[in-house]
Formats: sequence, C-alpha cells, structure tokens
Amino acid sequence: MLAISRSLCKKNLQQSTSQFFICSVRTCHRNWTYKRFLLQDKVDHKKSQYLKLQKCDFRTTQNLHVPPLVAMLLRPVLRVGALLMGRSMKKWWARKSGEEKEEYKRWFRERSHVFLGCFGVYGLILAIYYITHLKTDPLTQRSRFIIFNQEQEKKLGKMVLEAHLEVHKRDLVPHSHPAYKRLIRVIEKIYAANKDLKSMRDTQWTLTVINTPLTNSYILPGGNIFVSLDILKIIENDDQLGIILTHEMAHSLLLHSLEALSDQLLWDFLIAIPILLVWALFPDLAAAIIHMIGERIVNVMYNLPFSRVLENEADEVGLKLAAKACIDIREAVVFWATMRTLTEMHTLPPELPWISTHPAHGDREKKLNQIMTKTLELRNDSGCPLLPAVDPRDKFYKRSPKEHEFYFKQRGIITDEI
Ligand SMILES: [Zn+2]
Repeated sequence: MLAISRSLCKKNLQQSTSQFFICSVRTCHRNWTYKRFLLQDKVDHKKSQYLKLQKCDFRTTQNLHVPPLVAMLLRPVLRVGALLMGRSMKKWWARKSGEEKEEYKRWFRERSHVFLGCFGVYGLILAIYYITHLKTDPLTQRSRFIIFNQEQEKKLGKMVLEAHLEVHKRDLVPHSHPAYKRLIRVIEKIYAANKDLKSMRDTQWTLTVINTPLTNSYILPGGNIFVSLDILKIIENDDQLGIILTHEMAHSLLLHSLEALSDQLLWDFLIAIPILLVWALFPDLAAAIIHMIGERIVNVMYNLPFSRVLENEADEVGLKLAAKACIDIREAVVFWATMRTLTEMHTLPPELPWISTHPAHGDREKKLNQIMTKTLELRNDSGCPLLPAVDPRDKFYKRSPKEHEFYFKQRGIITDEI
C-alpha cells in the first residue's frame, strides 16, 4: 500500500513495494494493549478486548460533506466577497442625500429586529452545522469538527500530491538512493506493528524523498509523506527516523489536514460579517488597517495555537505508534533536544514560538519527556525486546556545550565556518 512518488506518472504513484503492506487479521494482543493505554488504564484487560472504539464515529444522520476543492475556493471568495460588499455599501451610502440617509435610518430602525433575527439565524445555522459535524477521534477520544469524508480526503490528497510533485520536480531523489531503502524499512516496521488500526490499513501511503535546503519532513492529505535529505543528516539513528515518521503518520491518522481546513472554513464564515461591517463603516485606509490587525490577532490568538495543539497531538500519538513498533522512543527526546541545541547554536533558524505553527523544539522535548514513562509501558505491553540499559537522553544531557559542538562537527551537521 506504500507508493514511492518519483514523477507525476500515475504508475509511480501506485507502485507498491515488495511484501510491504499486506494486511492480515488484526492481532488481538496489540489491539487491546493500545486501547488500554488510550483509556488510561481505567478498563480491565478482559473487558477492553470487547470494546469497539472504532464505533465512536457512529452517526444516525447523514452529514452534509463539503467537497474540499469547493471549500478551498470558498475561503477567498467569502473574504473578498465580504470586503467588496462592505465597500459597495459604503459607496452606495455616500451617494445618498442627507434626507435620503435619514429616511433609510428610520426604515432600518423600524426593522432592526428583522436584521438582528437574520444574524441570529445565521449564527444558529453555523452552530447547528458545527455540532452535527463533530466527530470523536478513535485514537485520542477528542471531539473535532470535520466537514469532509475519507473519500474526499483521498481525492484531495491525489490532487495536492500531483501539484506538489510538479513544484518539486527538480528536487525529487531517484528511487535508487539509499535513503529510500532506509525509510521504507522503518515505515514497514511501523505499519506492521500498527496495522490493527483501520485508518492505518485504509491509508494509501506514499513516500517521496526530496533534496531541498529545507530541513524538513511533512505529510500531505491522504498519507503522502515527504522527507528531505537534509533532515536525514540530523537524525542520528533509525529510532529517531521512526519518531519523525510516526509523527507524520499520526497527522494523517488523526485527519489533521481535514480538521484544519474545516476549521478555517468555519472561521471564514464567522469572520465574513465583521469584515463586511468594517469595510462598510470605516474609510478605506482605516478599514484596511483594522482588517489587517484583526486578521493578525485571530492568527496569533487562535490559528497558530490551534496548529501547535495539532502538532503536540501528533507528537503524542506518533510516540505511541513508535512504541508499538518497538522503537527506542527515548530517542524522541534526544531528537528534539538536538534541534533545540542546534537552534541555540544558531545552526538552525531562531524560533518565535508565539508566531509559529509549531511548538518550540524545547517544549516538544519537555512534553515528550513528560509522557515517556507511560508510553514506555505501552512499549513493554507490546511485547518488545528490552531497551539498551544506557538511556540515550542521559548520554545527551551529560554532554557539555563544547562536547555537543564537537559531536555535531564529527557528524557533519555543523562545520568550522559556523
Ligand atoms: Zn507535524
């Protein structure tokens, strides 16, 4: 079920690797240990085997799903439409004489309850739509607003992947590159250990390795994983690679891209009225400034913190996927500690957590450390071999700044010029 994306050729998008994602009957042992962990040990083992957590999404009414392409087009249309309508209302008002304005004001006052009622109905429709499209995620038990279905995600994923491959057509690394072999080996391990999850089996995973200056890995809707060669230089071992990959796979299993798009569209519907009012009531320059400041405030106060919440969630669920795959999950802390140290040494760009889509490296390191003991229990319950006695976190934290510098130089992550 994994495909390696090398070109826009459809054949490549569907190419499967040998023995890779052959689904088999789920293993009960892995199944209940995972569920038990998610339920925070409140359920005894025998009972948990019969829990049908996948049924959490059961609904009695049909949802009104919006095609993702329509949603993407609707977003700018709503904002620009509200702006233009507000501006047109302002111009129309300016053309009226004093007498006409008084007449309209009287007319409006007499019908103010009708207008207020319209706003109320609009808010009510949005609230009902929101409540009826809340779905409980089977992995986190978190209720989230999603207005797309899995089929739409697949179509969106294919479309976004093709566009993305076109953008990166000069950066694509050939299949023969050893990075592919290494990545596939680790993904195969993660998949095999987590195939008890329906969402893991149902996803058409693809892998693309790119050679860009960005030290990055990310996932597009529909399970399309992208890894840059540069991030492989920072990753110290396959355990850390597993942590990076499970984080990306968790984003996909948790439908984060669909949730983010649903959320943004709802915000656009909510914000359309304030935009219309601002452009109708204020002169153009003042309206543009208020509009811009308003957008920034919403971004800093809501959009970016929301994105960081999703990142933390992917870290946590990714760590569990990695634990089930018998990865040394303590390396997750070492990886983020490495990223933090490289940032402190100015090798990586400085972080501005308040205006960032991602939590600070140090915060991720701390959060992962906090859930480590519990997640290590999950690893033990999954029948994994014992971990090496020397904790890689201790090894990392014992190094002095000078030793870190020497170590990073040795590994070629930093050079003498830096
Ligand atoms: Zn992420």
